[in-house]
Amino acid sequence: MMQQFYPSVPHGFRFELNKDMNFSAAHFIPSKDAGQCQEMHGHTYFVNVTIGGDTVDASGFLIDFKQIKQAIHKKYDHSVLNNHPEFKDKFPTTELLAEQIWQTIQDLLMATENKPFCLQVIVRETPTSYVIYRPRKEDFR
Ligand SMILES: [Zn+2]
Repeated sequence: MMQQFYPSVPHGFRFELNKDMNFSAAHFIPSKDAGQCQEMHGHTYFVNVTIGGDTVDASGFLIDFKQIKQAIHKKYDHSVLNNHPEFKDKFPTTELLAEQIWQTIQDLLMATENKPFCLQVIVRETPTSYVIYRPRKEDFR
C-alpha cells in the first residue's frame, strides 16, 4: 500500500479503477551523475495504477484487478530491471520504469473488448520518493 495520498488524475470517464501492487527488484544506473545509484542495489517498488473507461466487459469489469497485477508483478518481481529488453538502451530510473509500466498495462487494456485507458501510474521507489507518469493524448495508439 502507498504510504500517503493518491494524486488523482482528472478525467471524464464513468468508471475509474485503481490497483496497488508492489514488487522487489534490483537495478543500477550506469550514469556518472547517478552517484551511489551506479552500484547495483534493490528496492521494494510500490505501484498504483489508475484506469478509466466508460464501459465494462461481459463480466462487469473495467479490467480484472488480477490481470494488472500479473502483468507487472510477474514481469519485474525479483528481477534485475537492467536485464529487461525495454531497458537495453535506457536506464531503469523510476521515471522510465513508470513509463514502461504504463506501456505494459495500456497494451493489455487495448487487447480487451471494452478498451479502457491507463490514465496514471505512480511508482514509489523509497519511502520519500515517487514518480507519476501521465500519458498524453497522443500516447494512446
Ligand atoms: Zn535505486
